[in-house]
Formats: sequence, C-alpha cells, structure tokens
Amino acid sequence: MAVLKRKNIILAGIVTIIVGTMLSEQASGATRKRTAYSKTPPPTLRLEDLPRHAVDTLATRDPETKVVIYSNNTWRYIHTSLARKHSGSPVYRNNWDTTQIFAYKNVEPSSLPSTIELQLIDDLSGFHYPYMKSVISPFGPRGRRGHKHQGVDLPLRIGDPIYATFDGKVRYAKYNSGGYGNLVIVRHANGLETWYAHLTRCNVEPNDWVKAGQVIGFGGSTGRSTGPHLHFEVRYSDLTFDPQFLFDFPNGLLKYQTFPLDRSYLDIHSRASDELIEDDEDFDPEAVVAAASRSGEAGSILEQAALGEQAEAGASASKPAAPKPASTAAKTYYTVRSGDTLGRIAERNKLTLSQLCRLNGMTTKSTIRPGQKLRIK
Ligand SMILES: [Zn+2]
Repeated sequence: MAVLKRKNIILAGIVTIIVGTMLSEQASGATRKRTAYSKTPPPTLRLEDLPRHAVDTLATRDPETKVVIYSNNTWRYIHTSLARKHSGSPVYRNNWDTTQIFAYKNVEPSSLPSTIELQLIDDLSGFHYPYMKSVISPFGPRGRRGHKHQGVDLPLRIGDPIYATFDGKVRYAKYNSGGYGNLVIVRHANGLETWYAHLTRCNVEPNDWVKAGQVIGFGGSTGRSTGPHLHFEVRYSDLTFDPQFLFDFPNGLLKYQTFPLDRSYLDIHSRASDELIEDDEDFDPEAVVAAASRSGEAGSILEQAALGEQAEAGASASKPAAPKPASTAAKTYYTVRSGDTLGRIAERNKLTLSQLCRLNGMTTKSTIRPGQKLRIK
C-alpha cells in the first residue's frame, strides 16, 4: 500500500512537471509573438541565485584589496581604499538607488551647468575599455519608428569578460525586465554612470566598489537582445550622450583625460522611458554574430560610418576638440523619394556616405523609405 502510494505521488509529480513545461512553453511562445523577446529571466540555473556563504577571504598583492570566495564558486572584491577615499563624497550618497535604473528623477536637466568638466582619469585612477570591438550600432535615432538608441552595441561571444571603465561603485546589478537583461550600472566619482547590458551574468553586487579593469560581468544576450552583444551607455544625471565622444571602442582607448560635457550633448528625453529600445527591425542578428566571429576588420566599414569625422576630432587626448552636438547646428532635411539610396542622397547633397550616416545615426546598411526625413546639414 505504502509502495503504491509512493508510486502515485511520483506519477503525479511527473504529470505536474510535464503539464508545467507545456504551459510555460505555451506562455513563452505567446510572449515571443507579441514582443519578439521574453520579458522573464532565462529559466537557467544562475550561480548568483544559489544560496551561498563566504568560505574564504584571500589577500592580494594590494594590501587594500581582498577577495571573498563564496560556496557557490562566485567571488567578490573588497576595495577598502576606494571605500575610504570616497567616504565623504556626496556623489555616492545622494540620488543613490539600487532598485531602479533611474536615480536622478528630482534633477531637472535645465538645472545642470551648461558645461560639466568631467575628469575621467588622474594619477591614481585609470581607464579600461568595457569591451574592445568596433561599434556595430551607434548612438542615435534608429529604426522606422524613429526610436533613439541610447547607447552603442558591441558584438561579442557569450561569456567574454566585460570590464569596469573607471573606478567606481556599483549602483545597480540585476536582471532588468525593461529589456536590458542582466544590467550593471557603475557610478564614478565625477558623477558619470556607465551601463553594461545583456550580460549573461553580473559579477558584482550593488554597493560594491570596483576598480577600472575589474570584470563586472560576462557578455551575453539577455533581455531584449537578438544576438550576443554588449549594449553600453554613458549617462550623466540619468541622461545619455554618445559614448563615442569618450571612447575609441575598436582600439580600446580613452579620448580625453578631462572631457567638457556640454549640456546640449545630453538627450533630455533619455529617461522618458525606462525600457531599452533596441529597434529590432534594423538590428541584424546574423551580422552581429558574423562580426563577433571575425576579428577587427568586420566592423571597419560600419565604424567608419558611425564615427565619420568625429573620430578625427577626438583623436588627440591632450587637446579636447569638443564634438559638435547635433542639436546646436542649423539643420536641413531631405525627404526620401522612391528609388533613392543612401549613396545617391549623399552624392546629391555633396556629402560622403559616412557623413550622411553620421548625421542620422545610421549605418551604411540602414534601410530608408520614401517620405522619411534625413538630415543633410
Ligand atoms: Zn543597444
């Protein structure tokens, strides 16, 4: 009798698992149809979700840095020097929210100074690229619906290490259901925040101090992502500006020691929505995968289009040549006619293809349609 009962329980268990699996597959199928991506975290077992306890603390060559090893094979650094150095800084105290992606909702963009001198590195704190690769999708307007891409996309292989760009403190590190997937946000001493999205796994926790070059997570394709890439943003007071103003991504270089951030570079609409809009219509996952598997040369054409003349403008680190923000120049638009191509429009308006792409935040591969307005000046 007891044996029979146990069998029944096991059977009931199996049926529950099968029905449960069917239901969840149905549910995820429906979600895919509606939004083209799943809003729920991937159902994989994640190391960081396992119960854990500290099993050991290791010393490093730097007496102020220790590594805590946990029972689930994860680890974290403790930087006592950074904690002490910045203990009195209001940057890490005010507008500090570890639960939401935006932290400066009470700050009016118009109340910011017209130019913010961002000291990026000094004798004691350095720089590391987040990931070294050509930008496959630049910052700016993108897609038929006119969405603005609030960061840059760098193709990668799942599991590649992602590095903190500067010293700082982790403000946010978890799965974000608004499309960013596993997202790490690091705030730096100058108030700048760097955002690292679609990670396979976050390697840090909120309130951790991190050093430039520390691995803060591993590249992936979580959230609203159609292929493995790093979506990388820079924000000041929640507001985005073009990360390519600061970084030379294909060469892993910093363009300025001190960057004069003009208020007009900031996109004041960038916190209107807390959803990541990666316009999938123009986002070609095959191109991303192909670019990730090739080295260097893959992104060069796109990069040329994305950077245009700005790369030259920002090439010297010693003498900052401020990039021209799109919003201050006199703008002229061209309406696309049927049969037009980007190349023909560029030629007709005495622009190079790169210039035209740059003005419109496009790549040479972007599609255009009749009636669309393109900026030509
Ligand atoms: Zn992106």
